[in-house]
Amino acid sequence: MVNENIKDYDIVIIGGGPAGLAAGLYAARGNMKTVILEKLIPGGQLNNTLDVENYPGIDHVTGPQIAQAMEEQTKRFGCEIVNNCNISEVEFNKGKHLIKSDKGTYRGKALIIATGSEYRKLSVPGEKEYSGKGVSYCAVCDGAFFKEKKLVVVGGGDSAVEEGTFLTKFASSVTIVHRRDKFRAEKIIQDRAFKNPKINVIWNTTVPEIKGDGNSVVAVKIKDVITNEEKDFPCDGIFIYVGLDPNTQLFKGKLKMDETGRIETNEKMETNFPGVYAVGDVRETPLKQAVTAAADGSLAATISIEYIESLHD
Ligand code: NAP
Repeated sequence: MVNENIKDYDIVIIGGGPAGLAAGLYAARGNMKTVILEKLIPGGQLNNTLDVENYPGIDHVTGPQIAQAMEEQTKRFGCEIVNNCNISEVEFNKGKHLIKSDKGTYRGKALIIATGSEYRKLSVPGEKEYSGKGVSYCAVCDGAFFKEKKLVVVGGGDSAVEEGTFLTKFASSVTIVHRRDKFRAEKIIQDRAFKNPKINVIWNTTVPEIKGDGNSVVAVKIKDVITNEEKDFPCDGIFIYVGLDPNTQLFKGKLKMDETGRIETNEKMETNFPGVYAVGDVRETPLKQAVTAAADGSLAATISIEYIESLHD
């Protein structure tokens, strides 16, 4: 496409979470003209994470702190970051991938997809209606609104159990409602929750409805999956942590994905389209953490530099 307004880069990275920022750092240090297109501000899920204590070499840091440090480091080496960039379309062409956005059209010889994931919805009556009125997906953002309130957390993974424990700083009680009889959360996270006197767990139970008084949440309907018994459980708020859905809408039908919509890659982060890489939560990967996302990003940048050099051969 011949168009004066196209902004040319060696490497275009979509998404500025830890995967995208690490890719930007490695690409810029590799002397590639690199841009990260971020739909909000850099940091991704780290911005919703209070404590990071499993990033090797860093004893403890908050999610936003490490996100900011990653952003500054990436920029220091010359990677550009465009915030609040909404992408409408992506066109894959060998060595000339086009990314159309409300901030203009970008062209990259290589493209690294680091679009991450977003909180999965429970998809029950009342959830949408009371979103922001007692229904939340972010304890770090909304926890302080629930001082001395009675909260419910749904889910049994790291997020539910860890964020449920965090919410006890504010709430009078936190009841974790989980559909099975054991958590899948890491053992250390479970142990902390079980020791916390403000946490109760209701096992083998789902939340089929969220009830409100028109203004805010007043209860959740809970259903015992063994007896099928249903009852109302009064509460002031509900935090939903039932997993993450990958942000892959832009690439549907263009890249191979697994049944959950995550992009398939090989060990070099290569997708089925040459010069297009996927890193972090958006790809099919058994561990979704900041450290694995950063590792993915650094690898994809390194491989994409080799790819770009091969285009000139
Ligand atoms: P997750 O590991 O996918 O867990 C989702 C939980 O929600 C599971 O317990 C699942 O139940 C339950 N669930 C799913 N759909 C449900 C539904 N419709 N109704 C009720 N319950 C439902 O998600 P996550 O906890 O958000 O974690 C996502 C990834 O981030 C994981 O890889 C995790 O390790 C990582 N993470 C790590 C940390 C950390 O290292 N500190 C913190 C947060 C997240 P089942 O167990 O029955 O499937």
